[in-house]
Amino acid sequence: MGRVLILLGPPGAGKGTQAARLGRRLGLPHVSTGDLLRENLERGTELGLGARAYMDQGELVPDALVLDMLRARLECEDCRGGCLLDGFPRTLPQAQALARLVAEQGWRMLAISLEVPDGVLLERLSGRRVCRRDGAHIQHVLFSPPRQAGRCDVCGGELYQREDDRPGVIGRRLEVYRLQTAPLLEFFSALGVLSVLDGNRDMERVLIEIERLAQEAA
Ligand code: AMP
Repeated sequence: MGRVLILLGPPGAGKGTQAARLGRRLGLPHVSTGDLLRENLERGTELGLGARAYMDQGELVPDALVLDMLRARLECEDCRGGCLLDGFPRTLPQAQALARLVAEQGWRMLAISLEVPDGVLLERLSGRRVCRRDGAHIQHVLFSPPRQAGRCDVCGGELYQREDDRPGVIGRRLEVYRLQTAPLLEFFSALGVLSVLDGNRDMERVLIEIERLAQEAA
């Protein structure tokens, strides 16, 4: 039976970092709506161009656009057995649409929320640098400084600061999370599929705990 593992939590909680490693270990494709939107932006698609203003300002892209994009991604062959979701759902209508889709597919669903205090999120996001060649490679100016300035340690790609990781936008993203996404914890809790983890710990430790929860639910 297929399954969907959802990583919830505010921006900077470590969803992307964990999902990139977990996907391989659990044999589930890593589906990040933020990455999909950024790919669309790079390719200059209509969706990417429409999404840009929202993303740059730290606002959410309208549900209809994100849902169409996600449905198309989930129809791909590699998602036949489910997927690992990162950055989706972010609103109640998205969560409801996902729950319907999961039921239609007969998949199991597990949501894991990573909790991290705001001060730590701010520090993580403002120093984050992302690899332009592979968005899953992430470094930090203080916590994992690149060996060669401006270059990704994994593949040598150029490291850049996301437009929405600039100080003015980070505060708005955290607020949007609190207002629009945090209520989803209630939603998944009511379905009996929510686990909460302390994400303010060593990355390896968090990874092991997520894996344990995923295995228990398998
Ligand atoms: P992320 O990489 O997950 O931090 O997402 C970056 C930005 O993409 C967000 O701040 C939103 O503007 C947009 N975005 C990503 N996922 C969603 C989603 N599920 N719903 C609405 N907007 C999204």
